Amino acid sequence: MDEFSLIDTYFTPFVHHRSDVVFGIGDDAACLDIPAGMQLLVSCDTLIVGVHFLSDWDPYDIAYRAVMVNVSDIAAMGGYPCWVNLALTLPSPDCAWLERFSKGLHCALKKYNITLIGGDTTCGALAMTLTIHGLVPKDHAIRRNGASVGDIIYVTGELGAAALAVLHLKIDGMNEVDKDIIMEKLLHPIPRIDFARDLSTLASAAIDISDGLSADLNHICTASQVAAALVLEAIPIHPLVKKYQGNTALDFALSGGDDYELCFTVSPTNEPLLLKRLAQSNLTCYRIGVIEAGSGLRETTLTGDSQLLEPRGYRHF
Ligand code: ADP
Ligand code: MG
Repeated sequence: MDEFSLIDTYFTPFVHHRSDVVFGIGDDAACLDIPAGMQLLVSCDTLIVGVHFLSDWDPYDIAYRAVMVNVSDIAAMGGYPCWVNLALTLPSPDCAWLERFSKGLHCALKKYNITLIGGDTTCGALAMTLTIHGLVPKDHAIRRNGASVGDIIYVTGELGAAALAVLHLKIDGMNEVDKDIIMEKLLHPIPRIDFARDLSTLASAAIDISDGLSADLNHICTASQVAAALVLEAIPIHPLVKKYQGNTALDFALSGGDDYELCFTVSPTNEPLLLKRLAQSNLTCYRIGVIEAGSGLRETTLTGDSQLLEPRGYRHF
């Protein structure tokens, strides 16, 4: 099977069509309609075997997760996803593998109303790069650089379960039900797209947690030229992380990556509106600290202790 029959077999026939795609797969470039009053968001993520996923994972999950990781970046900007390109490198055209991969890919894309508009197919060590394109109302993208002194720091959802799942891949001793729950967190993260629309009008800065809360919040601080004080007791830790990690559970929540929750800041003026929106939704957000003058992170406790918090998270080099 050459690359063209591979595309014709596993990708083109299953494309979920959007009416704003003038033409997609099959030409030298895709052509898209961008509505008036909107701006284009573009982001890409590469996933490499042995680094981001393991060779024995179900290819369905590899593809599904690759889409969610990319969708999460669009959510962090306050937009919604529309189109993706897939650059896929395969060691060989393994039909069983491609079938599962294609199923996971197309299921994930359909779920978020995204059209696969093109890509590239090459031979080599297993890896993929997805480039996602999203839309946001003009001048409403949420940046990392918008946090101000006095803003309140929030996080969506409980943290640490995906990092526990990564660890669990190497250790034994977890019961099967718990294992399924944390593997679900790792393999099928839920990007906070529905909430992103609210965020774009309310948040002053936002980031998705891919490397770890402390590392990612530190990116907001650096970009915004401010510091952050976190209340340790307020950090939401996933219950299974508490159950299996005991004393080190907080470290998982602070520096374990792959959660794809959003960390965002909101001004005291906008906070009541945020709370009102949250009350109308079924999403739980946790108030974890405040933005201060200065640089870096500080951990505080309800008893009044305070010390520097070294940002930690996943780094490639
Ligand atoms: P070109 O040689 O012009 O770069 P290709 O021959 O590589 O184009 O690809 C043919 C068409 O198939 C293009 O429209 C390209 O966008 C699309 N395509 C290639 N690989 C993939 C893929 N993995 N998924 C989706 N579309 C793909
Ligand atoms: Mg060409």
